[in-house]
Amino acid sequence: MSSLQPNVAVIGAGCAGLAAAARLAEYGVPVTLFEASPHLGGRARGVSWKTLSLDNGQHILLGAYSETLRLLELVGSKPEDVFLRMPLQLHMHRELKLNTCPILPAPLHILAGLLLAQGLSIGERFAAIRFMAWMKLKGFRLEEDETLDALLQRKQQAARLTRLLWEPLCLAALNTPVAQASAQVFLNVLRDSFAGKRADSDMLLPRCDLSSLLADPVATYIERQGGRVLRSAPVATLNKPDNFLVETEDGARESFTHVVLATSPFRLQPLLQHFPSMVEYVRTVSQFEYQPIYTVYLQYPQSFRLGGPMMGLASVEGQDDLHSQWVFDRGWLCNQPGLLAVVISAEGHHQKLTQQALAESVASEISGAFPHLPQPLWHKVIAEKRATFACKPGMARPSQITSVPGLFLAGDYSTDGLTANLYPATIEGAVRSGVQCAEYILRDIGRKQE
Ligand SMILES: Cc1cc2nc3c(=O)[nH]c(=O)nc-3n(C[C@H](O)[C@H](O)[C@H](O)COP(=O)(O)OP(=O)(O)OC[C@H]3O[C@@H](n4cnc5c(N)ncnc54)[C@H](O)[C@@H]3O)c2cc1C
Repeated sequence: MSSLQPNVAVIGAGCAGLAAAARLAEYGVPVTLFEASPHLGGRARGVSWKTLSLDNGQHILLGAYSETLRLLELVGSKPEDVFLRMPLQLHMHRELKLNTCPILPAPLHILAGLLLAQGLSIGERFAAIRFMAWMKLKGFRLEEDETLDALLQRKQQAARLTRLLWEPLCLAALNTPVAQASAQVFLNVLRDSFAGKRADSDMLLPRCDLSSLLADPVATYIERQGGRVLRSAPVATLNKPDNFLVETEDGARESFTHVVLATSPFRLQPLLQHFPSMVEYVRTVSQFEYQPIYTVYLQYPQSFRLGGPMMGLASVEGQDDLHSQWVFDRGWLCNQPGLLAVVISAEGHHQKLTQQALAESVASEISGAFPHLPQPLWHKVIAEKRATFACKPGMARPSQITSVPGLFLAGDYSTDGLTANLYPATIEGAVRSGVQCAEYILRDIGRKQE
């Protein structure tokens, strides 16, 4: 521990950095949050378009996102105001209707949902229930990680069941195709969502843009607690001659006792070049692969409403695969009548299309599903090409504690070293990592007991 008064730099104001800075500010630790962009929130941020507040991508949260919900409550947001909370349901247009049963305790609410699901054969329902029972029996732990595809085949989940149930869940949770996805991380998500309290499996759909939901209120809280939030302040170099020296691109320098590096993994390397002992960490993240998420916004006449706030579209066997996976009605959610957000997770043929061609193709898929729809009035495609790391079996992920005392890595990719805690790239994974880094610092400076 340094002899100086503690003074922490958090570099990067995505969910991880915001969560780390808020936890430190909560305990009265002087903290400065550096963000390269003029906007906070990183990969979960609002985007202004025409007169509307869109998002860089439509996000879904889960009732199991305990640290995210705690953070929102800390900064004075009421989850019941900012989210539409719905019991888990999977509506794949014309193919599958699965509603969990809100009055039964977990996991019976899921089993009842599977038993009563419309669109699955009896054999498919029982295969899914057998698989859920097996996961529970095993404590959601695999002896060795493998791809989800391999596990589903081993557990005799038929191709149609995978296409309608497991694949959409895997893409939504891991943003990685089943043929590449880590079965263990998928099981971790199912455990947290299905094996705890019933409300853990609820879906939380934001009622406002993501900046208004998270980044802005958290930043306001940090400042109210005496912390500093610096926008358009990209950190150019990080060094440790004695204390940590943080230099921003405009040449301003400041010294800190601790640093939380909360950039996305692909921005780590230049900031770690003065730390020879961090070479292994840099090598580990350089091996990451990334998966895209595209969101296609389509504006229809304001009178149009989907049958619910969200719906899945499944490809029909034997026909060309649809690009569109999930459709969200921003009229239901954010009071933006007639605006649909169509989400396409993970890699696919859509990446080869121009944005214009993709928007037209998605609009034609939507009018195939809802035949009376007119042409959209306008469209806007937001392509996040490195939306998340590809969550693959057994991938090495760097730990939050590093080889440099006082330097911590926060981000949806970093871990506390426990397999059971491995999460995919999500808001909750990012928030948990940020909170964990702040906890290490609080213990280091004696504000909390070991
Ligand atoms: C389109 C899309 C849809 C998604 N959907 C979901 C979903 O439905 N549910 C869910 O839970 N998750 C979803 N995710 C994932 C989730 O958004 C991310 O996992 C999470 O936001 C990552 O947060 P982070 O803090 O780890 O990283 P980031 O958000 O990448 O934050 C890093 C920050 O560091 C800043 N930075 C970089 N370099 C510097 C520097 N040198 N100096 C200062 N600042 C710097 C960046 O500008 C950025 O703001 C989605 C992601 C995308 C892109």
